[in-house]
Amino acid sequence: MSDSDTRDRSDTLRTPIVAVLGHVDHGKTSLLDKVRGSAVSEGEAGAITQHIGATAVPLDTISGIAGSLVDPDDFDLPGLLFIDTPGHHSFSTLRSRGGALADIAVLVVDVNDGFQPQTEEAIDILKRTGTPFIVAANKIDTTPGWNPQEGEPIQVTYEAQSDRARSRLDENLYEIIGQLSDAGFSADLYWRVQDFQANVGVVPVSAMTGEGVPDLLTVLMGLSQRYMKDQMTIDVEGPGAGTVLEVKEEKGFGTTLDVVIYDGTLREGDEIVVGGLHEPIVTEVRALLQPKPLAEIRTEKRFDRVDSVGAAAGVKIAAPDLEDAMAGAPVRVVRGRERDVVVADVESELAEIEVDTEEEG
Ligand code: GDP
Repeated sequence: MSDSDTRDRSDTLRTPIVAVLGHVDHGKTSLLDKVRGSAVSEGEAGAITQHIGATAVPLDTISGIAGSLVDPDDFDLPGLLFIDTPGHHSFSTLRSRGGALADIAVLVVDVNDGFQPQTEEAIDILKRTGTPFIVAANKIDTTPGWNPQEGEPIQVTYEAQSDRARSRLDENLYEIIGQLSDAGFSADLYWRVQDFQANVGVVPVSAMTGEGVPDLLTVLMGLSQRYMKDQMTIDVEGPGAGTVLEVKEEKGFGTTLDVVIYDGTLREGDEIVVGGLHEPIVTEVRALLQPKPLAEIRTEKRFDRVDSVGAAAGVKIAAPDLEDAMAGAPVRVVRGRERDVVVADVESELAEIEVDTEEEG
């Protein structure tokens, strides 16, 4: 315990928000599925929580997947919240108070294909938003002569390969490192990186066999813990702040918002201000909805109601007058503040966001 414990009472470390980007077919969806699948096969109920638009993987689960790579005692961040890949267009509009909504990103690159047009686009967006990222060099299992080691850390996998397979993979990895360097990023295989603020770490993975997934989670957790603790310190009791992922019609609820909350708490009945097409929308939260657990998905009702959600989390908001809400727009809880001040806040933030009219969701 430090000599001066000056933290506010309700200061809490929130979950870092992780986005997965990359060229089509390079394996974004598969990688997220693998992370979810590995978490589920870790066993305990509650190993992951499916949110609206996001998946929460708690530290214990990460340490279960990562084995000896992660000692949970070394961490005090609660885990990782993966946004369910909304695509580049949405990513570039997903801001939080001027920065990127995602605290950290995984750029997925097919180890055989290397950089492709959407990889370049993603890199530009990451540069522009100043989002720290690592590269998942995916599909290592497709290396000729590969001897797959299901779910193992990369070092274990490497040792199981023939010299020939290993050097084939190395060639491809160095190609990607070269392409990162051409794009202006000093990069190296992650275990050679000392300073992740100066260098991009490349993590060889397979979304198919799960090889390298322990390393990927370890590096994400380590980076967040090391460089983002200040950013993750929030007053969880404070008025909620979030970003709209999607505006959706939902049977029985009308127009709803899928939102990622990155600060404070959002409660049922809260007055909120949401960025709209013409002007900020002022409304009241009628219901907060989360997906029902997988086992119950066949039942009529798709959602569970919750009283409140604290950052970081994905949630669906049902409220009146949301028809003009926009993906990428800010959502703010008014609670305890002047409504006009919050409206002005949302207005100025909206002014910074280039509205992406081609948003396909
Ligand atoms: P996305 O468009 O980036 O989301 O890519 P997907 O996750 O849909 O993957 C595209 C294709 O590549 C699918 O057929 C996947 O099964 C396949 N794929 C993805 N990751 C891997 C991998 O690590 N190994 C192999 N062999 N195939 C993969």
